[in-house]
Amino acid sequence: MSKKLIAGNWKMNGSLAANEALVQAMLAGIGQPSAEVALCAPAPYLAQLQALLQGSPIAWGSQDVSSHEQGAYTGEISVAMLKDFGCRYAIVGHSERRQYHGETDEVVATKAQRALSAGITPIVCVGETLAEREANETESVVKRQLAAVIHAVGHCITEIVVAYEPVWAIGTGKTATPEMAQAVHAVLRAQLAAATTNPKRVHILYGGSMNAANAASLLAQPDIDGGLIGGASLKAADFLQIVAAAG
Ligand code: PEP
Repeated sequence: MSKKLIAGNWKMNGSLAANEALVQAMLAGIGQPSAEVALCAPAPYLAQLQALLQGSPIAWGSQDVSSHEQGAYTGEISVAMLKDFGCRYAIVGHSERRQYHGETDEVVATKAQRALSAGITPIVCVGETLAEREANETESVVKRQLAAVIHAVGHCITEIVVAYEPVWAIGTGKTATPEMAQAVHAVLRAQLAAATTNPKRVHILYGGSMNAANAASLLAQPDIDGGLIGGASLKAADFLQIVAAAG
């Protein structure tokens, strides 16, 4: 496995002034990180991230992308537009998009395929709800979600990033234990191994209330290749501690 990847997801937070202060604090403290680092911002701020982060060790990306190439899709943002603003990553299938915007496994898979076609790395989120975990459906849910992407992208599966994000752990302060997370990551790795001879090439991130205190123990697990960080990516010191823990 190459370097770990720590990606921040700002969700619908920020302003020009707040982003500037946050990014400058991160750049002042980041040095030469051992991990790959990225920030995923709301679309209106991608030009700002491009200006602030160009030439720095921090890449940037979007939190979603259209499944369509271009045309009459009011409000949508295409992969070509993300390319114009230097995005390396696009989060797709975040549970908040699946839950509040009705995104199906097939739509998420098409978005992943669309991103890949433009040379943007999709960070594909999978994860079970609390009800699904309690019904012992965790494995079948994440496998179904990943299978749709494998089916859509074929041998390009090695070019994606997977983020395992148990829905019950996102923004709740409840974190999967390192053992719980590792067990699901191992399932996902095995599924990737059935689709490619190089399953270790795929970063499998953990997301769900990862913070400065719990990052090291999660990142020490053999199949946890980084983190997708929500709340803690809005605080420079916390985010930098997670980056350091991934070193
Ligand atoms: C997320 O939004 O992807 C996430 C993991 O959020 P948090 O870290 O706040 O739980």
